[in-house]
Amino acid sequence: METHPKLIVNLGHLKENIRSMCERTDALDISVAGVIKGFHAIPEMVAAFDESPCQSIASSRIEQLKSAHDIGCKKPLFLIRIPMLSEIPEVVKYVAYSLQSEKVVLQALEKECEKQGKTHKVLLMADLGDLREGFWNKDELVELAVDIENNFNFVKLAGIGTNLGCYGSIKATPEKMNELIDIAQIIENKIGRTLELISGGATTSTMMVFDKSIPKRINHLRIGEGIILACDYEKLFDTDAAFLHKDVLTLEGEIIEIKDKPSYPVGELSYDAFGNVQTYHDRGIRRRALVAFGRVDVGDVETLMPKTSGVEILGASSDHLILDIEEVKDTLKVGDKLSFGLSYCNMVYATSSKNVKIEVID
Ligand SMILES: *Cc1c(COP(=O)(O)O)cnc(C)c1O
Repeated sequence: METHPKLIVNLGHLKENIRSMCERTDALDISVAGVIKGFHAIPEMVAAFDESPCQSIASSRIEQLKSAHDIGCKKPLFLIRIPMLSEIPEVVKYVAYSLQSEKVVLQALEKECEKQGKTHKVLLMADLGDLREGFWNKDELVELAVDIENNFNFVKLAGIGTNLGCYGSIKATPEKMNELIDIAQIIENKIGRTLELISGGATTSTMMVFDKSIPKRINHLRIGEGIILACDYEKLFDTDAAFLHKDVLTLEGEIIEIKDKPSYPVGELSYDAFGNVQTYHDRGIRRRALVAFGRVDVGDVETLMPKTSGVEILGASSDHLILDIEEVKDTLKVGDKLSFGLSYCNMVYATSSKNVKIEVID
């Protein structure tokens, strides 16, 4: 039976990471939506979130929330992508909270809630410059919030939220959080009550939790990467997050070929398997290894982190990973397994690839 590529899930370390994160958010009265979309809702991992101090289980995909429901999750489910009109019936059926930005969707939600005899809580999204979802015109946001408060019976206004660092690469700063809080206060003045949730973003907002610079009124974050991989902190944000395990997920692949070859391709240079023009460095004859997985399984191989020092990633096609192993050439042979740490992109691909077997360890 084929056993590789294999994704090894360290469940104990995941649980500890959730706890470590929630200790820090709890201390600031911030509740956490545990985001399961990055690992394609692997059931054991979802269950770990469900048994954790997280307030809710969140995903951008209704299918994943439905599967969380089906495995018996007890926590409220939170949809963090604006729903398609075509999925409204399922949203009402399975989901307690959702992020919203379109009046027509809210009207459809209200209608469906009435039909199913249910209520549903919404957070309106403010776009603070990252230019993905949410209201750019903040007066429109306030107007819709007031409209929901006064005229909707089944859809309840839970609060507002924002998302940063996804498309526009905009940094989550206390200033951005204060912009969000200002909008919340305008709404609160108009509706005469305090909003339940002011949701200040994702993993990129947790740095403000670690250094306690997050403004007080932010009381909710939606966190995936920072709990599961926690590799962006040091790699991208120069933040010490030593209290988080970096080995919740490990990808293991099997070596299928080892040969000495030139490092510079031989012949007329054209395009690679994906139609890209590549650059190559001539380092003479080097020992290289092929591992039996590729871009189909992990997306960009350049962000994989080999666990064996001396192993260097040269590139990949759909089904082949190409490594330089010159520095460790006497220690590796065909059939050996090599382990890699994953970036967010690698995790998303690996957990949705049918080729990758998943092994959960405690
Ligand atoms: C994916 C997503 C998150 C979680 O992002 P991480 O970087 O994994 O923490 C939070 N909010 C929204 C709206 C998202 O789409």
